[in-house]
Amino acid sequence: MKFHSTNYNSKEVDFETAILRGQALDNGLYMLNKIPKLTEETLDSFKSMDFIEIALIIISKFIGDIISEEKLKKIVNNALNFEIPVEKIVNDDYICYLDRGPTCSFKDFGARTLARIMDYFLEIENKELIILTATSGDTGGAVAQAFYEMPRIKVAVLYPKDEISDLQRKQMTSLDKNVIAFGINGKFDDCQSLVKTAFADEELKNLRLSSANSINFGRLLPQTLYYFWSYSRIVEKKGEEVLFSVPSGNFGNLTGGLIAKKMGLPVKRFISAVNENDEFPTFLRTGIYKKVEPSKKCISNAMNVGHPSNLARIFDLYGGQIDESGDVYKIPNMEELRKDIVSFSINDEATKDTIVKFYEKHKKIIEPHGAVGWAALKIYRKNFPENNNLKSITFETAHPSKFPDEIISLIKISPEMPNILKMIWDNKEFPNPKEIGNYQDFKNFLLEEFSN
Ligand SMILES: *Cc1c(COP(=O)(O)O)cnc(C)c1O
Repeated sequence: MKFHSTNYNSKEVDFETAILRGQALDNGLYMLNKIPKLTEETLDSFKSMDFIEIALIIISKFIGDIISEEKLKKIVNNALNFEIPVEKIVNDDYICYLDRGPTCSFKDFGARTLARIMDYFLEIENKELIILTATSGDTGGAVAQAFYEMPRIKVAVLYPKDEISDLQRKQMTSLDKNVIAFGINGKFDDCQSLVKTAFADEELKNLRLSSANSINFGRLLPQTLYYFWSYSRIVEKKGEEVLFSVPSGNFGNLTGGLIAKKMGLPVKRFISAVNENDEFPTFLRTGIYKKVEPSKKCISNAMNVGHPSNLARIFDLYGGQIDESGDVYKIPNMEELRKDIVSFSINDEATKDTIVKFYEKHKKIIEPHGAVGWAALKIYRKNFPENNNLKSITFETAHPSKFPDEIISLIKISPEMPNILKMIWDNKEFPNPKEIGNYQDFKNFLLEEFSN
């Protein structure tokens, strides 16, 4: 299976290179040359399989025998070792919960699978890798937890000391072993700049630094799996079409779904649910792409993205081309795009209103990102009554207990924390005692700690 860059200005690479490199040398994203297909019989057989069985069939379709079946089984079992409930909420509308991993966000799917695939390739090559990550809060925890105890990978996470929550800090500092966490006296941008400078530093070239960036194809692959899984739990008829409502920020989740559809999953339409960062619905309507700059701050904060990086892959899938700065080289096939995706922007007021109404009607708590998805579904149901015979699946992408203040202020109920988050409170912390005041401090640390 070969990958090209969405900028079409660097060489095609194989799966391993795409994974270990993360991003193409011309700053494009790696995308599959050809998407494998599943037969209707295979899709139908998923109904009687468990998640791991389905996952193995799909991943093998992409990577063939690059990873042996036995190894792949171990990787998937180990990475995706949590529940993925699909619950009927009302009539034909279901929610698929992607919030049961160790950091209670759907990022666990991508990060945990990527970590194990990277480790597998490093073991074969007998090499090591150092992952550098700057975080404003959530990504650092997901990456640190995902790479924890990977024998060939060390992780250094930099976080702004005074700008993250205690829970977020504990997710990074309580791991120790191969995860080193630094609290920086500064802002997220200062952390980001230290990491970027290190990547560009010629004197650190021998260290094999890498990033576990959300644009790595290895994070996308596992994001196709829960589309097949949730579909197989709810349909009755062979070939039955469904709707998916996808809370979208950087559009990695939606891209996973579009790939699933190209593989043969019968999806009538994707509802791409965005917050007030409405560059995508505007583009679908007008055919003109314009970033939202600066991005808008909404309560669904993981979706505050004014120029989603995975748009490059979506353009590519529909015959278009757009680069990392948002310059469009070729408009994708708008007719096809509009047939497959509809997108609605949900403002904070409507998001809050949805959280309240959802609780009143269904006695269940939904958090801000899932609420954006649910609100968009409701608009779709109203605007497209001709599809009201179809079942729908909305993704809940984080656990409500990660947004206690918002939820308490809206419905006066404090969402119960899952044990996996509660346990973190009792853990001992190991923040790195070294003071990192400037880049030289950071560089010295990397050289001392990682040079052999
Ligand atoms: C990252 C994230 C999203 C957005 O997913 P994309 O793949 O970036 O579109 C939605 N909800 C939560 C909780 C997230 O962490």
